[in-house]
Amino acid sequence: MKPLRIAIVGFGKIARDQHVPAIAAVNEVVLAAVADPHASLPGVAHAPTLEALLRDGPPFDAVAVCTPPQIRRAQAAMALAAGKHVLLEKPPGATVAEIAPLLAAAADAKRSLFATWHSRLAPAVEPMRQLLSGRRITSVRIVWKEDVRIWHPGQAWIWQPGGLGVFDPGINALSILTRILPQPLFVTSAELSFPTNRDAPIAATLSLSDAAGLPISAEFDFRQTGPQSWDIHVDTDQGPVVLSSGGAKLSVGNEKHVDAIKAEYSALYRRFAELTAAAASDVDLAPLQLVADSFLLGRRRSVEPFEDKA
Ligand code: NAP
Repeated sequence: MKPLRIAIVGFGKIARDQHVPAIAAVNEVVLAAVADPHASLPGVAHAPTLEALLRDGPPFDAVAVCTPPQIRRAQAAMALAAGKHVLLEKPPGATVAEIAPLLAAAADAKRSLFATWHSRLAPAVEPMRQLLSGRRITSVRIVWKEDVRIWHPGQAWIWQPGGLGVFDPGINALSILTRILPQPLFVTSAELSFPTNRDAPIAATLSLSDAAGLPISAEFDFRQTGPQSWDIHVDTDQGPVVLSSGGAKLSVGNEKHVDAIKAEYSALYRRFAELTAAAASDVDLAPLQLVADSFLLGRRRSVEPFEDKA
């Protein structure tokens, strides 16, 4: 079978760091073009916008939408209308409700819509899910703290409405949580800290639960310096289980069960190739719904202004 020809739309940090090497590593896909107002890749067809790429570019089968979330929906709709399969970076959009029309458009066009959650494909997540399925969970504590100046240098969109602020990384933790705990979860309280000069939170503290009253807490913070924390601590009837390093490591009691190098994006592209072969979609909005509900329910606190340069 011929490889799926991919056009990346939005050639920023994640496209360069992860999508390009993953596409090169997976036989079922090939990079055909890039659309970005400024950035390009030597030797690969380029246009400043998706519209221009569809009009003037080489043929391609699918679009990987890696632009900021506020402009994704319109680009995904344009790609589906042009008969392309669509892979959405996380979060799938700026609102929950904007995804339903995209799913309908994909079904009508017999094309795939894949709302990716790269953190779910970290190497320790599936082992943790399986381990927890045989235990009774008594509490969950998420600590997801990183330095925004390192991971999102100068990204203005992340602080604008729809950019999610600290929920941009926090939604990765929620994507893992909603994978390892199969029951429906919901937010019970939230406190969101907004810098006085920004329109998105720099930190958030959440409480979540399930129908049985399981206590789940989450702390997200963009102001972490020094060691970074991407950890989920789960207490169970048979002792503690800890997922750390964003899903690369799993400890059960005092024993290390998994300590592996992440290859999330190559797994994403293999899955995308499978989906497109069947013209099937894969869209789970549970993590985005939890973020939206945190904004609905959240108490808002003003904190000191944030500047990109410390
Ligand atoms: P980024 O570095 O700001 O990249 C976004 C790119 O999209 C920029 O090159 C931007 O160009 C371009 N763009 C803006 N408007 C466009 C348009 N109309 N058409 C085509 N391209 C356009 O952001 P990023 O870090 O790659 O993040 C993008 C998405 O990936 C986010 O949703 C994020 O959650 C997700 N993600 C990021 C990471 C990470 O570690 N950074 C990890 C996983 C997932 P200009 O800069 O010229 O505006």
